Amino acid sequence: PKKEGKTTVAIIGGGPGGYVAAIRAAQLGGEVTLIEKNKLGGTCLNVGCIPTKVLLHSAEALAEAKEMAQLGINVEVKGIDWSKVQAKKSAVTNQLVSGVSGLMKANKIKVIEGVASFASKDTLTVTKKDGSKENLTFDKIIIAAGSVPAVPPIPGVKENASCVDSTGALSFEAVPKSLLVIGGGVIGIELATAYSRFGTEVTVVEAMSKLLPMMDGELTAQLRKMMEARGIKIMTDAKVQSVEASGTATKVNVEVGGKVEAFTAEKVLVAVGRRTDTEALNLDAVGIANDRGRISVNDKMETNVANVYAIGDCLGKVMLAHVASAQGEIAAENALGEDVLYDGATNPSCVYTDPEFAGVGLTEEKAKELGIGFKVGKFPLMANGKALIMNGGVGMIKFIIGEEYKEVLGVHILGPRATDLIGECALAVGMEATVEDIIATIHAHPTVTEAVREAALAAEKRAIHIP
Ligand code: FAD
Repeated sequence: PKKEGKTTVAIIGGGPGGYVAAIRAAQLGGEVTLIEKNKLGGTCLNVGCIPTKVLLHSAEALAEAKEMAQLGINVEVKGIDWSKVQAKKSAVTNQLVSGVSGLMKANKIKVIEGVASFASKDTLTVTKKDGSKENLTFDKIIIAAGSVPAVPPIPGVKENASCVDSTGALSFEAVPKSLLVIGGGVIGIELATAYSRFGTEVTVVEAMSKLLPMMDGELTAQLRKMMEARGIKIMTDAKVQSVEASGTATKVNVEVGGKVEAFTAEKVLVAVGRRTDTEALNLDAVGIANDRGRISVNDKMETNVANVYAIGDCLGKVMLAHVASAQGEIAAENALGEDVLYDGATNPSCVYTDPEFAGVGLTEEKAKELGIGFKVGKFPLMANGKALIMNGGVGMIKFIIGEEYKEVLGVHILGPRATDLIGECALAVGMEATVEDIIATIHAHPTVTEAVREAALAAEKRAIHIP
């Protein structure tokens, strides 16, 4: 029964979109029910952001251990114990999932295990694990149903057991000798980095002319060179035609430079993108506007149906955990009577390669496309003491500054801890800080953040540590 005066809110999906929306709705006095068909934490905690970073962390530690002699430390590296790497991955994800469960309890959010489906515009049918069904009516419903890996129509992919998606690639039984990655987006590139560090012979095949399409072109090209120097074979403008079994290995036929070449690998990672997971929701029957399962919303995260909101990956747009969470807070606030808009301007894009790669705001390419007058400031990390200590000074920071008002339009960082450094830059973009605001801020020495300021100085042609 509905408590006096409380707005009842249902959240469909317990990923970083849904669980954050649930907490925010509870903070604002809502009576919240979260329905999750699988595990709290969603893709991100269970088979996405977190487990990939555990593998990458072990891979990076292995690479560092091999280079210890350069730091004057003599260690003998005997290789890796894969079962322990996997156990670490499970331990971290389990701890975080139980943390989310604790947050649900602390916020008095009712969690129901089951699949939610719209029976009408305000009523959900929840099918539980034992097959029983229950109809529940709510004042507000927030859809946070997320996404699943897309399977491309490449002949042989579905039939071949050595072809895995990102979830499969996180849990290989052993480190594969060779891995062919179809797709040079974030997920493909991160897993390519991890396995290459673990000793796998890695080949990346990307259909477009550039890896990581949303990232700054110049820095992406630098990253590609670094990956290639480490032995990762990368092909762009290359289309996988078909996949077939070939003895114990798998043959992948790739059209590149007008010819079809065959590559063999023990495992094939299919990382060509993700699709929304909205089939079970019955969207069309209740008239929730969507484009082939991608739910349409306005800036308030409202769908076309009153009191129904949607957030995160199920919109099929920017598929990132922090975007899902940000949209979750907006949807919850609007559902509980506030009037707020989502603005993605400060959304950072991060790639956990080695070195890390991060960007926020406009890239040079995008600024040109939009016809915005801008200038660029660049600072190579070779001239930054801390970066030199950490990774030999590999990488660069690049500012895109508006020509007329000198506002920070975008910042792009390839270098150690780039994904942490981007926070300051996101704040600058959000506050429409000018290059002078960055310059006027004293940055600690010795840190890589000094290079952020130096890149801003470079835009004004007054960098100190480059000639
Ligand atoms: P999800 O996390 O997908 O959660 C949706 C939940 O809804 C799921 O738990 C699902 O079971 C549930 N659900 C669906 N339908 C129903 C239904 N009908 N009834 C009940 N429950 C339902 N993003 C980053 O920002 N940083 C990263 O480093 C990063 N790395 C990634 C690495 C990999 C390998 C992958 C696959 C993704 C990565 N992502 C990363 C993307 C990130 O995981 C997603 O953007 C994020 O999880 C989206 O959150 P969400 O809440 O919208 O959906």
